[in-house]
Amino acid sequence: MLAFKSVWQYYVPSSDVLRLLDVFRRMVNESLRIGIANDASSLRKLSLLSYNQLAQYDSPSYYKLCAISRAAGILAARKKSIRRGFPTKTPYAVRPMLISCYGFKIGNGLLEMPLSRDRRFRIPLTKYVLEVASQPGVKVRSFTLTQNRLSLCIARDTPLLQCNSTVGVDRNLRNLTVGNDQQTSRYDLSKCVRIANTTVRIVASFTRDDNRIKMKIASKHGRRRTSRTGHILHTATKTIVAVAVQRRTAIVLENIEGIRSLYRKGNGQGRKYRGRMNGWSFGEAQRQIEYKARWVGLPLVRLSRRETRGSSVTCPRCGERLQSDKRLTRKLWCSNCRVVMDRDMVAVVNLARRGRVRFARSRPPIIEAQGGAVEAMKGNPTPTVIPGVDAPKLTQPTKS
Ligand SMILES: [Zn+2]
Repeated sequence: MLAFKSVWQYYVPSSDVLRLLDVFRRMVNESLRIGIANDASSLRKLSLLSYNQLAQYDSPSYYKLCAISRAAGILAARKKSIRRGFPTKTPYAVRPMLISCYGFKIGNGLLEMPLSRDRRFRIPLTKYVLEVASQPGVKVRSFTLTQNRLSLCIARDTPLLQCNSTVGVDRNLRNLTVGNDQQTSRYDLSKCVRIANTTVRIVASFTRDDNRIKMKIASKHGRRRTSRTGHILHTATKTIVAVAVQRRTAIVLENIEGIRSLYRKGNGQGRKYRGRMNGWSFGEAQRQIEYKARWVGLPLVRLSRRETRGSSVTCPRCGERLQSDKRLTRKLWCSNCRVVMDRDMVAVVNLARRGRVRFARSRPPIIEAQGGAVEAMKGNPTPTVIPGVDAPKLTQPTKS
């Protein structure tokens, strides 16, 4: 399985590089214009139409091909949006950039790229970038330059790990819960909520009637918030993937499509509650887990919407709908089994089990080792009665 990742660093551009970035941007825009005028979005058709038109631009021909390819990518994405009925604007590249998969060389701790026919530009790579790019089996596919950043796209072909069990991952406002019916662990993310609240307070404390400055402050603190919460999430997802690899468990993700519509204006929720519930990134944790799992070759199961439904309110023992109680916070009560369960634990156990059903269907020989619980699950996609599952375990959260 081919896995991709990117690694980036800052660099100092020369005036020639800046000129080249702008030429590239204009070539992309020219190809976009040609593509829209001729209704062409495939790389082949666009190359035939616009390669000759790019002759007037002063740039190595490598970059012309890459500009066309970039434009084709943008046009294909736009076409997809139109097909799905999303509103689209006429695409136009505003920021100077350069993306190329040809002509560059990495050696002696430098990235060397052509500026024109006989001149080359060298960027010293940082220790970290060199270390990541020189891992065994890693190939550098392309590089991207912006005004101050260099980003390398790296790829690795990893064999799929053999897994004999699954773990569910459930992202909540204040934690990230991972586990199955044997073991669950919780990663505390309440610091992200605190960071978000601080950001809101700081931005709100600016009361002067000056929109320009307010925008500046909001974007500065917004960036700070994104990077701080991103770091917390990265640490958690890194551990999750490492533990899953160690225990040989495939990761099961729920389908979070349409989650935004839960907290919309007119749903009868307060403004603050909606702000809080929409203020955390539902998808970011999944995105991180997904690419990190791919990178190490860990199998991943994405449940469909139908398979995800009711995963946090269904009793993992008997399939009954769980009751919530005002006296219990984030705990649920099964009137059939007469036990109180933790909401997050219920969700991950259900997700892990539903994922295992799919996993078992796709590759039967590996799952054999699981025994009892899986036997009951075969050909039984909606969990109803599952014997041999220890209920008390669910009520005792195991913290890691
Ligand atoms: Zn029950």
